Parts: sequence; C-alpha cells; structure tokens
Amino acid sequence: MKNFGLDIWSNKNFIIEDGQIKLNYKSMPSLLQIVEEIRSNEVRGPVLLRFPHLIKRQIKTLYSYFDKAMQANNYKGKFNAVFPLKVNQFPHAIEAITTQGEPYNYGLEAGSKAELILAMSKITMGSNITVNGFKDKEMITLGFMAAQSGHNITLTIEGLGELETIIEVAQECKLKIPNIGIRVRLHSAGSGAWAKSGGMDAKFGLTSTEIIEAITLLRDADMLEHLSMIHFHIGSQMSDIAPLKKALREAGNIYAELRKMGALKLDNINIGGGLAVEYDQHTHSTSRNYSIDEFSSSVVFLLGEIMKAKNVKHPNIFTESGRFIVASHAVLITPVLELFTQDYHEKLLNFKTVNPPLIKELIELNKLLNNANCIEYLHDALDHMESLLTLFDLGYIDLQDRSNAEILVHNIIKKALYLKSANPTDELEQLQIKLQERYLINASIFQSLPDYWGLGQHFPVMPLHHLNTTPLRAASLWDITCDSDGEIGFNPEKPLYLHDVNLDEEEYFLGFFNVGAYQETLGMNHNLFTHPSEYTVSIDENSYEIKNAVESKSILNILESIGYDSNELHNKLISDLSSSKFSTEKEKNDTLAKLELFLEQNGYLRTTN
Ligand SMILES: *Cc1c(COP(=O)(O)O)cnc(C)c1O
Repeated sequence: MKNFGLDIWSNKNFIIEDGQIKLNYKSMPSLLQIVEEIRSNEVRGPVLLRFPHLIKRQIKTLYSYFDKAMQANNYKGKFNAVFPLKVNQFPHAIEAITTQGEPYNYGLEAGSKAELILAMSKITMGSNITVNGFKDKEMITLGFMAAQSGHNITLTIEGLGELETIIEVAQECKLKIPNIGIRVRLHSAGSGAWAKSGGMDAKFGLTSTEIIEAITLLRDADMLEHLSMIHFHIGSQMSDIAPLKKALREAGNIYAELRKMGALKLDNINIGGGLAVEYDQHTHSTSRNYSIDEFSSSVVFLLGEIMKAKNVKHPNIFTESGRFIVASHAVLITPVLELFTQDYHEKLLNFKTVNPPLIKELIELNKLLNNANCIEYLHDALDHMESLLTLFDLGYIDLQDRSNAEILVHNIIKKALYLKSANPTDELEQLQIKLQERYLINASIFQSLPDYWGLGQHFPVMPLHHLNTTPLRAASLWDITCDSDGEIGFNPEKPLYLHDVNLDEEEYFLGFFNVGAYQETLGMNHNLFTHPSEYTVSIDENSYEIKNAVESKSILNILESIGYDSNELHNKLISDLSSSKFSTEKEKNDTLAKLELFLEQNGYLRTTN
C-alpha cells in the first residue's frame, strides 16, 4: 500500500510533502500543524476537523457535471440538488453546506419533523425543501406552514394515506398548499449494502395501482395541479450503476405516463441519493464502478431518450446525494496513547552476573546482527527462544531469564524487519503479522466510526507525520472504550502498517478520513464518550483560520445529558471530599481545586496525549 492509498481515496484533497499530510489547497497547511495549534490550548482527546472548501468542491462538482451533461445532450430541463439532512445535521456542517450551496440554490431534504423544522429555519428562502419519510397529520401541516411562509417545499408521499391527509388538511385550512411528490415503488432493486430502499419489497413508495389511485384522488379534490415530482431512491453507497439505469427507465416512463394522464404540472424527477464515496486504501475502484461523469451523463441521456420516445417535455432533474457531498469534509484525528509491545523495550533488560548460555548467545546475536547474516541469526534466535521456553517450563531458568530472552528475540526480529524492509521474505512477512503492534487511540469507535462497528465499513486511516519513512509495524487499533468491539483489527488482506515511535519522546497522531457522512449522528455515547471536540478550518492563500470551536462535553455535562442533576452530583463529590481529614489545609484546597478542574474537562484521556 503506497502512501496509505492516498491516490485511491483522497480525490487529490490531500498530499504528502516533507513527511506530512497536507491539505492540497491554497496555503496548504499540514494537518499536524492545525492539530498542534488546537492542542496548544490544552485541548486533549480526539479532534474532528471540518473543511468547508471540500464541501464547496463536491457541490460544484455535482452541479458542473450535470450542467455539462445537459448541454451535451441538449437537455431542456433544469438541474436541482438538495442535501439530505439525515447524513449530517450538525450546526457547523449545515452552516458550511448552506453557505457554500447558496450560489447554486442548493436545497435541503428532511425525513422527520425535527429535520423539517431545521430545513425551514436554515434554508435560504426560495431554495428547494423536499420532504420524504413517513408523515403524520402534524408533519403534513408543518409542510403547509412552510409553503405559507414562502418556502419552495415538496411533500413526497410514501403511501396513499399520506395523500388523503394532505387533501384533508387542504380542505380544513386555507393555507398555501405545498407541492406534492410521489415516491414510486420500483420493480428494479438497488445495489450495495444499503439497497433496501428500492425494489418490490421496499419499505417505501407507491405501486402502479396506487399511483393511478393517487391521480384519481388528486383530480377529485381538484388538486392535480399540485403534483410536481416523481421520486425514488435506490439506496446509499451504490456500487454499480446498472440498477440506477433500470430505475431511471422505470421512473421516467411513469413520469411520461402521468403527464399523458393529465398531470401537467408534473415536471420534476427526483433520483434520490446513493452516489458512492471511495473508502478503500488498497485497490482502485472497488467501492464503485462508475465516475461522477458517467453518472451524470447516464441520467441525463436516459431521461432524454425516454422523453423523446414518448414525446414528453424533459423533466427537471433533482438529486439528493448526501454522502458524496459531505463525506470528505471531516477528518477525525486521534492521538496514540500507547504502543503495547513497547513493553519489550531494551531498557527493560536486566541481566544477571552469570546468565544461562542460550541468553549469552542471544546477546551476541542481537549485538552482531547485520544485513548479511540477519536471516541466519534470526533463525538461530527463534530456535533459542523455543529452547528457552522449554527450559522455563521444566524449571531450569527463572522469570527474569525468560523476560530477558523475550526482549532480545523481539529486538532481533524487529531489527531483521528493518534491515530487510525493502524486500522482506515470506517468513519475515509472517513474523511481521504475528508481531502485531497494538496502537491505543484516544477515541471511541462507537462514537466516531459507528459504521465500522455496525457494518464493517472501512475508513481510510494514516499517520499525519513520519511519512518519509516506511512504516513496518503491522497495526491493530484499540480504542479507549472497555468494549472488545472497540478494535480495528489487523487484516492481512488489507494490511495497515504504522511507525514504531517512542511515545515518551514524541507524539504520534492518526487521521481517519471521509468521516463526514452519517458518522456523527449515528455515533453513540458508549462508556459516556461524547462527540469529539470539533473545529472548522477555512484556508486561504496565505494562511488558515480555526473557528467554530465546540469542545467535547465536560464530564458533568455528559452526565447531565442522560438525565442526572449535575449540581447534585457536583455537591455530593465536593462535600464527601471536603468533610474528609486532610493533613494540611493547603492539601485540602489543592485537592478540591483539582476535582473541580477534572469535572470541567471532557471525558477523554489526558495523560501522555
Ligand atoms: C438517505 C437518503 C438519501 C441520501 O443518500 P446518500 O447515499 O447519502 O446519497 C437521499 N434520499 C433519500 C430519500 C434518503 O433516504
């Protein structure tokens, strides 16, 4: 894996220079520089960085490829996009999306009442709001209120019951009627791990019989003029473009049929989301078999063909891609707290005045190992280790001898790996895997990478520095939750190698990339670890600015957020401690001050890193 697969997953958003990973944009700050600046203010624990320029880049890419495809195909409809809020509702993500999206009239999609309220509050008046998901009468009434307030809103019905409620509300009040969309239940299913949204057995959408009934209901209520959109969504992280094309043919024909049936205000097709993101670090194009170029061209071309065949006006095209827009904008940075096999450090050797003969030999092998003899000496060392373990079992050597032997052999293997790192033998590669290093990271996988825990979704990971030296330690990553699922194990099929650093002398940081979609709201407070401290970094020609700091919740606030009375907890701790007997008044005051400080800090670890 060259450069941690940067060429595969980073879309040229990052580059490696001077041994560090840098933003490939304007003044090109390094991630390490940014993190060090944040940490200079005593911030500890994991840090989430948001880069608004990467959201802008994705929005621009989406619009410009569709514009290009429409021009190339002489397509008469317009292109519109909305951001599905469920992918990231965090305030500073939304701020970046709405600010960067404004020149494009980029809209928002809501799937629940809370998301609808958010969309109504945060969208620029006039941009599109689309509403999907199951709705009750209140949510539908909210939609009417949005229309009344002047929003350009479309309520997409998931079933006939919702349409009946819309008609009911329209007849009960004199509020402005929102646009109405119909989600169609496709007979073609999606692809990828999230494909449950499309297909005959899908959770959402109207069958063809129900669509015909919907038209009748609307016509009878004299509301057919409000039907404006056909919608489908075949699932997230689409790996293959073929199912999308099938779905487009189906939805395109439904659109054309409905127009022929008299739905003359129907002029939008909403193709949902699903554009995939490359998360892979090892092989090219395993996450998806298409580019944004092919995606946009196929959509525009196919819809154009269908409308030509049926002699129907080209519909405007809506997309609701979320993952594609925001995944790249956020990077999670975690300090490494500990490397477990540093227990085998040479400084822990403790020889006796007289050592057993095999130990003496190991000392010599360790001293004299070089490039020419290293394989031979390695074999000798492994043989000696076997013999020494047998001698220990039989009671001939003691625990100190055994510890010395383990440290020496460990060192010999490590030296051999370094000496042969340019072209390791199969045997060395096997040893490397066996000698896995466990890196303890100051973060929670449950909180920050829940899709790894729930779905086995891999996220690109790499160190922020040391990138001009070859990493040689086969790495597994352990988080600080006390749950054995909080581990990203070493996978020999897709190996991760990291550097051997002495954490007593320097810090070592790992970055997890493409974590901007879905992870934040899905993240859970297992062990009461909360959302990491987050910062927005805007970069210009000469420098960069860190803003929108939101530090991870303090320990008392975490407890408060699950329903405890933080004053009560605070007072109890203080009163228990202060009524105990201290040796001096000063010690008492210092201890109480320390406790106050601890309660104000976030729940991640502070010592070492
Ligand atoms: C989740 C969802 C999306 C977003 O999907 P992405 O894969 O993130 O692009 C779009 N539309 C609907 C209806 C959704 O439910």
